[in-house]
Amino acid sequence: MVRLNEIRDGEIAVAPPPATDAGLVFIGRIRTPWTSRLECPRQGRADGPVCRIEIFEPWVPALAGLEAFERVEVLYWLHESRRDLVLQSPGRDGVTRGTFALRSPVRPNPIGTSLATLVGVEGATVLVRGLDCLDGTPLIDLKPDRCLFTPLAAPQKGDFDTGN
Ligand code: SAM
Repeated sequence: MVRLNEIRDGEIAVAPPPATDAGLVFIGRIRTPWTSRLECPRQGRADGPVCRIEIFEPWVPALAGLEAFERVEVLYWLHESRRDLVLQSPGRDGVTRGTFALRSPVRPNPIGTSLATLVGVEGATVLVRGLDCLDGTPLIDLKPDRCLFTPLAAPQKGDFDTGN
């Protein structure tokens, strides 16, 4: 039974503009134990296997200070995903939801995010637990978990704006 790029009952694909990936620079590659989408976790888990995020030059110096954080937000490009579904049936039962109401890898810009536990930084490699992507998945960005991060720049006006 296929469970990769097929269309399921009730799902709707659209004709998207040509995919370009323009404006993104892949800054590294993620090494995980999973070589098939059918074996990846649906979502990473804090006690999952240690995965290696290899940072490419010239970005390695950008890791300075990251080791101080317990958790890291990892953004990656789910490069094997189709991108044209607006309605999806994750349960394969004809019951559909909109793509933007799901965390499915199938989306117009297949960006995946995980809040991963930082295990360590070894030179150009970041070790984390909590990922759910294929071995070789391109890395888009790394950031400290926003809950652990206090802005270092001085506050500015918008920081004090509240709702009407
Ligand atoms: N944690 C991320 C999120 O919520 O944004 C991704 C969640 S997504 C449901 C994880 C699934 O994407 C995996 O179970 C696997 O089926 C699929 N996947 C993982 N790596 C992929 C890749 N490089 N290309 C396409 N699909 C991938």
